[in-house]
This record gives sequence, structure tokens and C-alpha cells, in this order.
Amino acid sequence: MLESAKRVAEKKDWIKGATGDWEIVLGLEVHAQVLARSKLFSGASAEFGGAPNDHVSLVDAAMPGMLPVINEFCVEQAVRTGLGLKAQINKRSVFDRKNYFYPDLPQGYQISQYKQPVVGEGSVHLDVDGRAVEVGIERLHLEQDAGKSLHDQHPNMSFVDLNRSGCALMEIVSKPDLRSADEAKAYVTKLRQIMRYLGTCDGNMEQGSLRADVNVSVRRPGAEFGTRCEIKNVNSIRFMGQAIEYEARRQIGILEDGGSIDQETRLFDARKGETRSMRSKEEAHDYRYFPDPDLLPLEIDDAFIGHIKAALPELPDEKIARFMTDYGLTAYDAQVLTAERASADFFEQVARGRDGKAAANWVINELFGRLNKEGKTVETTPVSAAQLGQIVDLIAAGTISGKIAKDVFEIVWTEGGSPAEIVEARGMKQVTDTGAIEKAVDEIIAANPDKVEQVKAKPTMLGWFVGQVMKTTGGKANPQSVSDLLKAKLGI
Ligand code: ADP
Ligand code: MG
Repeated sequence: MLESAKRVAEKKDWIKGATGDWEIVLGLEVHAQVLARSKLFSGASAEFGGAPNDHVSLVDAAMPGMLPVINEFCVEQAVRTGLGLKAQINKRSVFDRKNYFYPDLPQGYQISQYKQPVVGEGSVHLDVDGRAVEVGIERLHLEQDAGKSLHDQHPNMSFVDLNRSGCALMEIVSKPDLRSADEAKAYVTKLRQIMRYLGTCDGNMEQGSLRADVNVSVRRPGAEFGTRCEIKNVNSIRFMGQAIEYEARRQIGILEDGGSIDQETRLFDARKGETRSMRSKEEAHDYRYFPDPDLLPLEIDDAFIGHIKAALPELPDEKIARFMTDYGLTAYDAQVLTAERASADFFEQVARGRDGKAAANWVINELFGRLNKEGKTVETTPVSAAQLGQIVDLIAAGTISGKIAKDVFEIVWTEGGSPAEIVEARGMKQVTDTGAIEKAVDEIIAANPDKVEQVKAKPTMLGWFVGQVMKTTGGKANPQSVSDLLKAKLGI
């Protein structure tokens, strides 16, 4: 497998064992439920929730003689996601039957794409603590979800809920390019962000619309890949990090004791913070894959792909680059602002025609800070982009100081209203009138002869004088004018 020399040189993420360094190797299989109204092969609702078995058609229940019909919208969503992952779109793909028995799988097989997936190789770029990491995508294929077995409802009975049965999933398989829990967390976060921008998956991990199977192995730095274990169905980014750390340490312990790793499928127990064995690894031939005779191969043409491509939104990486050049933002600020499409749009409404840096500061530090504290979002913010923009304008025009602007923000947040009118009505305007400032300056100088002596020897003391004048003017004096006047009067 191709290994970049740069990576091998990065010691940072290595784990110290009793007998030397180890490196973690990770590959992820992410299952993302397609954001669609109906299921992959039936017209039943794909909505989350509802009473058990509310959203089940005869196809989803696998009644004899029922035939699957492909949902074109789900195919579009898979192609859209593939384009977002800069991946190759395969114009011909095939649905296979993956045969296994489980009570929540009434067909006795899952329809999935195996040898010929709809999307081939692509890549995702990560920024992990300021370090650029590129992760290869192996493939993205479409498949059906299974139902759910319910074991906790009754002491000696189990139930089956088929609401999820037949919902469309995109399985996104990464190459084994990830090297730490932090990289894996950044990868899932980025995938989720890209799919939310595209509108192809809501990324809601609590509701199960995004789940990850994590393949973990360890090796000596630079050595061949080790044997991997696959941790199934991790449903939170935090748990995924814990599962990886635990599993890597477990494997290192075995190897350092002279043992070897059995390739197996494991479960993460979030309560204990441990992984435990579920079954030994199944092989592809165990599933007796064969093309589903009820479905034609999926053929898509350039026009179909072209339409989707033409309607793609600007994606996070491009938005970050544009924010940095157009608004002069740092990479960090650009990343914070683009985490969600809605917050990026909000920022642009504030920044348009204004100083981008100032707009970013107000959006990130004042607005986002406050929204987080109060459990609100840019969708439910009481301070609109227009109002925040006005506050930025008032500062830029020298009408109010940055300090007073925070008070104005507070008033707009709690009471609403136009910032300009608030400033006018409540006499919050910055005093640039030199007469008034001069009076305050003279008073401070007259009242503090000892400090005047000191500042002449030590000009950094000037800050104290500026502070005093600001205090007596209720923060409304223009700090620059105050400083200029003081310097002139004190002769420094
Ligand atoms: P399967 O479907 O049997 O799980 P795949 O070949 O599709 O097998 O690989 C599944 C995942 O395992 C991929 O994400 C891949 O990157 C990852 N993987 C493969 N080899 C290793 C390894 N040695 N260590 C960690 N992950 C690995
Ligand atoms: Mg697998």
C-alpha cells in the first residue's frame, strides 16, 4: 500500500508501548441514511420515528411476489454525495443480494452493491489541529437498511420494527489512511459536514442516520499493516474516539505479550468504555453475493450526472478558501464560520460591503458565543444579520466605541430594535467633540499631579490616563482622540 514518507516521519500520534512505538491504522465504513421521503425500493415513508411498523410496505415486509422499484431520487443523492467527495461516478453499477438470516431482515438478504458500486474512488481533506490530512475514499455504494429487533419491551418476547427496513443507505468506505482517533473524528465530522451542505444526509447520529464501523489495527511505524478488528455501529463521534483508543491499547497489549490478533467483529460497550468480541470475521463468500434478478443494472448517463453537478452548492473547502481571500480571514475563523451552511450564509450577509475581519469577530465572538450559551442557532437568533451589520457600521463610522457596541448588542438581543435608533435615543454616541473630551482630560490631569510626573518618565502609564477619561465619559469618548489629546497636553 502507498505510504507517504511525510506520514512515516510524523511521530506525534504514535503510542508508546512497553517495547517501543506503535502506530494506529484505521479505515472507516460510514453508513449514511439518504435524506429522502421514501425508501430505496418502495414508496413507504423513510421518516424517522412513528409507531412500530407504521412505515412498512409489502415490499419492505418481503411479501412473496413483491418487486423492488429503484427510487431515482436516492440514486441522485448518492451521485451528489459522490461528486462532493470528488469521486468517480460509475455509469453502470449493479445491485446484489447479500444473503444472511436475521429476524429484522424479512427478505433473507440485503440488496446492496458489491463489486460494481455507483461511486468509485475519491478523497476528503481534513485539517487536524492545523495539519492537512488527505483521506482516500475507496467507494460509495447504495444499499437497504434492515429493520430493528426490540428486546426490552417484554420479559420473554422480542419484537421486530420494520420502519427502517428498506431505507436507503450510502455506505462510504475509506482507505486505511487514518492514523489516530483525532483523525477519525475529524473525518466523520467532515463527511457529515459535506453531506449536510449537499442535503444528502442529515447526519443525525442519535437517530442513527449516520453510523460508523471502525476498522482498527496497529503496527510498528513503517511496518506492514497488522490484522484488523472491525468495531460495529458506533453512533457518536465521542464514543468512536473512546472505542479506537481502547481497541488499539488492547491489540498492543496482546502483541507485546507475544500473541497475535484474531480478525473479528467487535462491539463497543459505551457504559464500560470497552470493545468486546461479537463474532469472528465473516468473509464475502459467506454471503453468497449474486446480482439481484429483480433489478436491472443501474445505468446513468452524462446528462443525469451533469444536471446534478450543475446544481452542486459551494462546498466547505471552497468556501473556506474564498472566505480567506475575499474577507481576509484566518483559516481558523473561516472554518468556524463554515461549519454549517446556515452560519456561513449568515456571516456573508453581515460581511457584504463591510470589513470582513470586523464582521467575523462580531459573528464569532459576540453572536456565536451568545447563541451557544443560550442553546440557540443562527436559525433562531434574536439578532438578525441586518442588525449585527448595523452595529458593525456604527463602530466603523466612529459613532460608537467597541465597548458601547457590546451594550447595543445586548439591548438588541433582549429588546430588539434598530441599533442606530437605540444609539440615538439612549445617547450612546461616542463623544468625538474635542471640547467635551478636553474638559475631561484637563480634570484628570489637574487631579493627579503625582501621576503626571510618573507618566513623563514612563510613557506606558498613558493607558491609565486614557482609562480614567473613558470612565468619566461613560465609555463614550473616542479612545484615539483621548490618547492624542493626552499626549499633546502632557508633552509626550
Ligand atoms: P470488509 O467489507 O470485509 O470489511 P473492506 O475491504 O471493504 O472489507 O475494508 C473495510 C475497511 O477496512 C476499509 O475502510 C479499509 O480501509 C479498512 N482496512 C483494511 N485493512 C485495514 C487494516 N489493516 N487496518 C485498519 N483498517 C483496514
Ligand atoms: Mg466491513
